[in-house]
This record gives sequence, structure tokens and C-alpha cells, in this order.
Amino acid sequence: MSSSLGRRILRRVVACFVICIVTIAGFYLSLLLSARPLSAEEMSKVESAIDVLDKAGFDTEVYYLRYYTFFRGNDNWLNAMVPKENAYAATNYPFEIMTVYPDFFVYTTDDVERAAILLHEARHLQGYDEPDAYEFVWKNKAKLGWTREKYGVSVVWRNVRKQTMEIAPGMFICEFNEMGDCYE
Ligand SMILES: [Zn+2]
Repeated sequence: MSSSLGRRILRRVVACFVICIVTIAGFYLSLLLSARPLSAEEMSKVESAIDVLDKAGFDTEVYYLRYYTFFRGNDNWLNAMVPKENAYAATNYPFEIMTVYPDFFVYTTDDVERAAILLHEARHLQGYDEPDAYEFVWKNKAKLGWTREKYGVSVVWRNVRKQTMEIAPGMFICEFNEMGDCYE
């Protein structure tokens, strides 16, 4: 009697588990399938930018970008419902889907700038929030070779600096540097 009750409970538990897995898989697939993949040309630009991060020694971020991330070229239904954080890219954590918008290809001057954007998104892939992502990129921009001397007039540089100043003003209080940047 008790063993048949045990079997019934076990069957319910297994059924619940299967329903959970199928629901999550369906949700994940719907995110992937509701957006287009990147073209071969776009994907090769993304890969070149990841190579820049690799050479600069961002091992953890490169690992996430190369092995865990699905890249998409426009919004899935979930992104379309929420306000955009920036015009270049967006990440669905914990699903590790990164949407790369046209501005990522249009306004960046080279692979280094595209690497800076991917570095920001790679922090989100690891579960870090917005202030962390902005701070991490700004603190590491010299390591990446993304410096004011070379990129100070680029659209992406000026946009990211403005957003970083808004979200982490404490990084711009060093009067000995231009714009008060503590991480020049
Ligand atoms: Zn972000």
C-alpha cells in the first residue's frame, strides 16, 4: 500500500519535473526563434572583436562570448517589450542571448570599439548589473587599447563616457585628468 503511494508521488514529481523542463526549453526556443541570426559578415566582425578581447587577456569574458552566447541580429519578443538600455547591444541573462543592433556595426570605428561594447555585454552574460558593466569597461579601457588619445572623438567613446558619467559619477572626480577621469 505504502509502496504504491510512494510510486504515485514519484510519478507526480517526475511529471512536474518534465513539465518544468519543457516549459523552460519552450521559452528559450521562443526567444531564439523570434529573432534573426547574424549574417556571416556580421558574425565575422563580432568574432574579430572577440579576438581583440582575447589578445588583451579578458579570458573569462572571451570564454562566455565564445562558448555560451547565442548572437541575434534583432529583438526577440522579450527585448521588444522592455526599454532599450543602449543602441548597440542587449543581453538576456540568464539565457545568454545577445542581440547585436545595427548601430553596433554602423557607429563603431574598428574592432577595438566593438570589443568595448562586447566587454560590457560580457559582464551581463555573467549576471552583473548595469553599474558594474559600465565601471568594468571604463576601468579596463586602457588594457583594451581604447584610449582617449585614439578614440576621444568617436561617437561610441562619447556615448559610453556620457553614460558612464551618469551611472558612475564617482569615477570622474580626479581633477588632475581631462574630464576628471580617474582611469586614464
Ligand atoms: Zn548594459
